Amino acid sequence: MTSEPHRHPPGSGAATTPWTLARDGRRTLRLGPRALANRQRERLAAMVDFARAHSPYYRELYRHLPQRVEDTALLPVTDKPTLMAHFDEWVTDPAVTLDGVRAFVADPGRVGERFLGRYLVTTTSGTTGHRGLFLLDDRAAAVVRALSLRAARRTLTPTVTARLLAHRMRSAHIVATSGHLAAHAVLARSRAAGRLPARHSHVLSVHSPLPDLVDELNRYRPVFLGGYATVIALLAGEQLAGRLRIAPAVVSLLAEGLGDRDHQRIRSAFGAQVINSYGCNESLALGYGCTSGWLHVHGDWLVLEPVDADHRPTPPGERSSTVLLTSLCRWAQPILRYDLGDSVVLRPDACPCGDPLPALRVRGRAADLLSFPHRDGGSVRMVPMAFETLLESIPDLDLFQIVQTSPTILRVRIRYAAGADRERLWASVRKELGALLAAHGAGQVEVEPASEPPEQSPGGKYRVVIPLA
Ligand SMILES: [Zn+2]
Repeated sequence: MTSEPHRHPPGSGAATTPWTLARDGRRTLRLGPRALANRQRERLAAMVDFARAHSPYYRELYRHLPQRVEDTALLPVTDKPTLMAHFDEWVTDPAVTLDGVRAFVADPGRVGERFLGRYLVTTTSGTTGHRGLFLLDDRAAAVVRALSLRAARRTLTPTVTARLLAHRMRSAHIVATSGHLAAHAVLARSRAAGRLPARHSHVLSVHSPLPDLVDELNRYRPVFLGGYATVIALLAGEQLAGRLRIAPAVVSLLAEGLGDRDHQRIRSAFGAQVINSYGCNESLALGYGCTSGWLHVHGDWLVLEPVDADHRPTPPGERSSTVLLTSLCRWAQPILRYDLGDSVVLRPDACPCGDPLPALRVRGRAADLLSFPHRDGGSVRMVPMAFETLLESIPDLDLFQIVQTSPTILRVRIRYAAGADRERLWASVRKELGALLAAHGAGQVEVEPASEPPEQSPGGKYRVVIPLA
């Protein structure tokens, strides 16, 4: 522990606690778009300086750049595999090593503890080779909490806030509880730090059988229910069937690109305010959903650039191939112009909800594109959203998952609603999918029913589309 370079990171003004940071953020937004852009520019310049001073990797990568950088477009693009391959040079604290962090996360018992006494560690669920390891210093954690406060202030109605407080925020969180995966690690850290009293919060495993989740929730009766959107959608089905009987004031969805139909169904099943939050390991608070159905991103603490496959800017209103993230608060492990892999659409005009922060929609991950042989030769690529919206239009499918098992075979896993006419439903699934594929010129693709139900990824999510490996 020879150095603590993050004690006074630059570019964050005098604010140091989540509350002063949140107040500072409100002031910036009140001052208008120019003030927001100025904040972003100042923080970017400071972060680039900091990365050059403390990260050998960035010092080398940026050696030909001008001394002051106020525009992300000047920065080369980075990504997870490259940064993970240079982990020890990437981090800004020489006491942090890949071996050290790996040993720490290998022990699930240490979740909630801080690595070296000063870093929250989160991991992605990827297979060992592609697994990302992310460190958050205390100062960055304070920014994340400030941004969560902002999201709560801007999304919750006064009535809902009053109900939450009246029940002491009795919350249930359904997350992947294995190891140091982001949602679990953040909850465990909040509990260890005393910010989330264990008796007012319940953490349930996303891998628990559905009847067990239902039983536990019926016993606990949360006023706040949070978790992956697909799992909450299943619970909405249980609530509608009368097996689950809870009355949360708020249902908070970790955004996975859930369609409008599921959103509506969750709202009516629970009679609750449904909010979307958008985050990832690289930026634990990216944005929050508004009443107009857009995600507003925290533009004073991050930059998101929608780009095409060659990393050229995608105009607002058009679907990007991927998006580049620049975090302005990750001092321990700078994330600068980092290829996040999400396809997004940036809203070209002001959002009707009145929120001045940039608004976008996530259109699924570029990695989830399906590719088929075209009937006239060549190949055709299709986005997961095409399949999602199609299958969502068929009633009584609680959950579905499309697995490509060969270039021309799609296996469809379905969880039917109770009492559904399976044969009739399968006939319409096959017909609709066949028509969609034919419309894209992929008519030879076979659609077959799977005997197994949809499966969760190691991180507990249900991916709607699993392309051929
Ligand atoms: Zn909005």
